[in-house]
Amino acid sequence: MDINGAHGPGYALAADGLVACHECDALHRLHPLDDGQRAHCTRCASVLYRHCPASGLDTVIALALTAALLFVIANVFPFIALEIQGRGQSNLVVSGIIALFHAGQPGLAVLVAVTSVVFPGITIFGMLWVLVPARFGIRAPGAAAIFHLIRRLGPWTLLGVFMLSVIAAFVKLGDLATVIPGVSMFAFAGLMLICAAASARFDAALLWPPAGPRLPLPRPGATARELGLVRCHTCTVLVPHTASGCHRCGAALPPFRKTASVARTWALVTAAALLAIPANVYPVMSVIRFGRGEPSTIMSGVIQLLEGGFLGLAFIIFFASIVVPLLKIAALVYLLLSVQRRSKWRPQERLRLYRITEVVGAWSMVDIFLVGILSALVQLQALAAIEPGIGASFFGALVVVTMFAAQNFDPRLIWDHAKDTA
Ligand SMILES: [Zn+2]
Ligand SMILES: [Zn+2]
Repeated sequence: MDINGAHGPGYALAADGLVACHECDALHRLHPLDDGQRAHCTRCASVLYRHCPASGLDTVIALALTAALLFVIANVFPFIALEIQGRGQSNLVVSGIIALFHAGQPGLAVLVAVTSVVFPGITIFGMLWVLVPARFGIRAPGAAAIFHLIRRLGPWTLLGVFMLSVIAAFVKLGDLATVIPGVSMFAFAGLMLICAAASARFDAALLWPPAGPRLPLPRPGATARELGLVRCHTCTVLVPHTASGCHRCGAALPPFRKTASVARTWALVTAAALLAIPANVYPVMSVIRFGRGEPSTIMSGVIQLLEGGFLGLAFIIFFASIVVPLLKIAALVYLLLSVQRRSKWRPQERLRLYRITEVVGAWSMVDIFLVGILSALVQLQALAAIEPGIGASFFGALVVVTMFAAQNFDPRLIWDHAKDTA
């Protein structure tokens, strides 16, 4: 999602007139930009920073306030109502999460709760906490820590994935019941768009505008590490690695490269590959009609959709749940091997592969959310019920572990051995 602020533009501003690329560590001089302009890294083409107008702060505050209002509406009003043979039930978002707990799926309940309610809430109210005082020239307590937290939560805020699952639930339930969207669902859709817009504009430069003394011009092609500099992961200023902390925002300094990046990524990729087996073998849910259960795995669910004529949805679930996790594991294994073999081959393409793996990974969650929504919705005991299966928990764990694996990989390693080809 574009809430991925940790990798988004603007994260690379530096106070000392120099900027280190967050993707390849190459150093560049800061240049003033015109309206709407972006500066790109000459080595890997990533966005280094972009123009941040003085009115930027007001815009983000306005977006965050709108998001806060929509967030409250989305969680207070009924999300969806369901009618089967004259019997109806209406659901809040939170009642779906509680239903998952009651169905003996606490892991899934927590996953849905954090990615669609808790993290978006922290992001919205955290932005207001940091930005409103900044508007009046006051530094809010804990501003740097909250800013960093919001960036970290970005990849785990899955409002868009949640909405796609809701659409899928409508399609799947079409022949079972009459589904009526509630006020909350429209608020959620709006929240998804506003949140994405606010996060895209939530830039380090809003709080820490580029300023300060100029370092001597580094030799062309030098990286921050070669000059003994690290980029503060909160305010992006370049700091000598010997410093005890960032002089500008007070955050602790990260190491030159993510700690034990290769070993940790290998461990997580291996775990993901093992989890893929039970995730595909065990049923992810059971549809119980008139007391009789019908368990289905991810693959048999896709086949049922195909037989039911839902080609588009079958394709989405197949792609998101089967193709994406396997490709993601394969891509990470390839990247790890290439880094360990100190490959110089096409670093830019490898970086692009890494970016794609990171962005599409979260969309695998669509089937998990779908199971959650369905089992929360369809609980009309005698007539019909949908229960999550153990496979759903394995699948949820698989998606989470692959996301952690991608986040532990340090793309700068690709470039560390590729200097000659730059
Ligand atoms: Zn770069
Ligand atoms: Zn800092």
